[in-house]
Amino acid sequence: MLDIRNLHARIDDREILKGLDLTINAGEVHAIMGPNGSGKSTLSYVLAGKDDYEVTDGTATLDGEDLLAMEPDARAAAGLFLAFQYPIEIPGVANMTFLRTALNAQRKARGEAEISTPDFLRLVKDKAGALGISQEMLRRGVNVGFSGGEKKRNEILQMSILEPKLCILDETDSGLDIDALKVVAQGVNALRSPKRAMLVITHYQRLLDHIVPDVVHVMHQGRIVRSGGKELALELEASGYAAYGDAA
Ligand code: ADP
Ligand code: MG
Ligand code: MG
Repeated sequence: MLDIRNLHARIDDREILKGLDLTINAGEVHAIMGPNGSGKSTLSYVLAGKDDYEVTDGTATLDGEDLLAMEPDARAAAGLFLAFQYPIEIPGVANMTFLRTALNAQRKARGEAEISTPDFLRLVKDKAGALGISQEMLRRGVNVGFSGGEKKRNEILQMSILEPKLCILDETDSGLDIDALKVVAQGVNALRSPKRAMLVITHYQRLLDHIVPDVVHVMHQGRIVRSGGKELALELEASGYAAYGDAA
C-alpha cells in the first residue's frame, strides 16, 4: 500500500531524510521508533505534503499512485490521513462543521454524493461516543480549549470518520495519561482492517502494548536503520537509543 524508496528531503538547506526506505502492505500496522530529532515528524509531514519540505530524491507511492506529485488535499482524497503530534486549534470553525466539510470534500474528490444530515449526525454520534467526545466538544471550535488528551482523541475521531486507507499517527501517545492512551488505542484498533495500513510513530514503547504492531522500525538520522517484530520495541525500551549514537 505504502512504498517509499530512497526518500531524501530537506528543510531550508538541511537534509533531514537521507535515503529512507519503507514498505507497508494493506492490513499491516508498522511502528517507527527513534530518538528525538531523527526525522520521524519530518517523514509524516513529507508524506502529507506539508510546505517547507523539499523532496530532493526518491519516491513515495500509495496504492501505486505517486504521492509526491499530489497536492495535500489530493493525498487526503487518495486516502492518506495524518494525526498530528501537535494538533492545531481552529477558532471559529465548529468541530462538527470541520468534520462534515472534510468528509464531504473527500467524498466529492471520489465522485460520491454529500452525506445527508441524518446520516452524518448518526455517524458522528456513534464515533464520538466511542471516544468519549461530548456533544459540547463537537460544537466548540476545532480543538479550542481541548486538553492535550482531548486533542489526540479528536484526531482519532477525524480518522474514524474519514476512514483513510493509510493512517499515520505521529506521537499520538505523547502527553496522554494511561486512560486516555487506552481510549486512543481502542479507537485505532477499531480501525485496523485488511484494507488499511497504519504507521504509528512513537518515541516510547508504551503505546505498542495497546496497539500491537506487525513490524517495528528504528529510525536514526533520517533513515530506517533496523526493522524487526514487536519484540524490537521491548528491546529498545530496555536499551534506549544509545546504541544508535543518541541519548533517548
Ligand atoms: P522527530 O520527530 O524524530 O523528533 P523531526 O522530524 O521533528 O524529528 O526533526 C528532525 C530534525 O529536523 C531535527 O534536527 C529538527 O531540529 C529539524 N527540523 C524539523 N523541523 C524543522 C524546521 N521547521 N526548521 C528547521 N529544522 C527543522
Ligand atoms: Mg520530536
Ligand atoms: Mg516528532
